[in-house]
Amino acid sequence: MEKKQFQAESKRLLEMMINSIYTQKEIFLRELISNASDAIDKIYYRALTDKNLVFDKDNYFIKIVPDKQNRVLTISDTGIGMTSEELENHLGVIAKSGSLAFKSENAAQEGHNIIGQFGVGFYSAFMVADVVTVISKALGSDTAYKWESTGAEGYTIEPCEKDEVGTDVFLKIKENTEDESYDEYLEEYRLRSIIKKYSDFIRYPIKMDVTGRRPKEGSDSEFEDYTEEQLINSMVPIWRKNKSELTAEDYEKFYAEKHYGFDKPLKHIHISADGAVVYQAILFIPENIPFDYYSKEFEKGLELYANGVLIMNKCADLLPDYFSFVKGMVDSESLSLNISREMLQHDRQLKLIAKNIESKIKSQLLGMLKDERDKYDTFYTSFGRQLKFGVYSDYGTHKEVLQDLIMFYSSKEKKQVTLDEYVSRMPEEQKYIYYATGESNERIEKLPQTELVADKGYEILYFTDDIDEFAIKMLMKYKDKEFRSVSSGDLGIEADDSQKESEASSNENKELFDYMKELLSGKVTSVKASKRLKTHPVCLSTEGEVTIEMEKVLNAMPN
Ligand code: ADP
Ligand code: MG
Repeated sequence: MEKKQFQAESKRLLEMMINSIYTQKEIFLRELISNASDAIDKIYYRALTDKNLVFDKDNYFIKIVPDKQNRVLTISDTGIGMTSEELENHLGVIAKSGSLAFKSENAAQEGHNIIGQFGVGFYSAFMVADVVTVISKALGSDTAYKWESTGAEGYTIEPCEKDEVGTDVFLKIKENTEDESYDEYLEEYRLRSIIKKYSDFIRYPIKMDVTGRRPKEGSDSEFEDYTEEQLINSMVPIWRKNKSELTAEDYEKFYAEKHYGFDKPLKHIHISADGAVVYQAILFIPENIPFDYYSKEFEKGLELYANGVLIMNKCADLLPDYFSFVKGMVDSESLSLNISREMLQHDRQLKLIAKNIESKIKSQLLGMLKDERDKYDTFYTSFGRQLKFGVYSDYGTHKEVLQDLIMFYSSKEKKQVTLDEYVSRMPEEQKYIYYATGESNERIEKLPQTELVADKGYEILYFTDDIDEFAIKMLMKYKDKEFRSVSSGDLGIEADDSQKESEASSNENKELFDYMKELLSGKVTSVKASKRLKTHPVCLSTEGEVTIEMEKVLNAMPN
């Protein structure tokens, strides 16, 4: 039997594959199961046009058999199989995908779900196996063939026996080394959890022989060993189901199963997009702040699936920072399985999806604000700060929507109000949106600076969060109304007379004020008479953009 060499490029690629493309060894199973699923899909598509071929769903499945004694893991499918030429061309030439070719040949057909297209997935098997043996019988062929390889050295192909059409992939699992254990890839529980994690929504049944020990029937003391075939995957993903079939409990269950959080989600968003980009998504707005939310450990992102197969746990590019609290998943047919993180960042499809998702979240939040205020208040208590950070760090693109989502405590309403609510209540003559900054609402209420504005009957927004004033400075205006701190030198309230009066009084007392300024030298820039005080003898005010509170924050920041 002749031993064939992989093509030169293939050899290098193979080394690269095994050593660097995949960071986690466990994904070999995802790749092999995806190939098996593709192989069954191919029969399915063929049956659509071939009258002699009937696709009876019950006959198609994927089976995983771990054999600890011989250290062999088998992945079998009842798919289309490979001829000897196909074994040679598809497994002998790395980066050549039979599935991609199949897709372009059958491009006219609607909705194919075939996953493969890069032609590298198969080789991930060498991350866990010394020897990979493939026995395959192609649809419509009488002979089966065996392909075998120990990795970069090459492969052999020879005829062999196999009754049914389909493919068996045998992995001779590597021996443990000092720093790496491979035993786990023969453990049922481990295999089950890998399948659940990556391949739960493969459309065909994935079965596994599960062994165990149970009490013998009719006996309390005797036990027996058993082996039974179990179905491992759930097959139809919840996000592919019709919204009308699903209840709030279904979404909550999914939220819990996925470990998105320990709380109950405040809201779910189920998207089925069919426009410029095709994808499904289930997103959640949590009720509580995750314990690590404001720590460095927190990673934003959504789970990303390509055609029902998990490709990334946390795809950060799908969420803007100000919506980093959103949990959930996205599944798209337009993405490829073996895409790397770096490639994803530049993926046009992914960018479109991200944009789309962002506007959906925005409109859902606006809807919640309008129709479910209590819920929105709960949400805002948890994540309002993040939205304000969004306003602050944004250079114009998203301000438009974020400004309608932020709220501040109101002196009049004694609760959080939106800027829109504030502005709609403003009396005709009121020039500015007033705010006061302080550590707490109680402290702000006692500020002498609020007196004049409050006396006028104007509403004041209380800024108790460090970020508040910075965010507002970025906004500058809301519906053409500028923001004004109650400690600002010009409140736009004092009548001309009182302005003149205070100037006159300042001049009269010039000597006294100069003396006071000298005493406070370096701490104040001027001392003036003010008409703004009612019950307090003195107050501090600022000129220019940076207020006293902002200065405090800036001074407290590490530089
Ligand atoms: P991809 O899946 O991206 O095409 P792979 O390296 O995973 O790349 O597989 C290469 C090719 O080998 C596939 O495109 C397919 O034609 C063929 N192949 C792999 N596994 C199977 C299988 N179980 N049944 C039939 N064909 C297979
Ligand atoms: Mg593949």
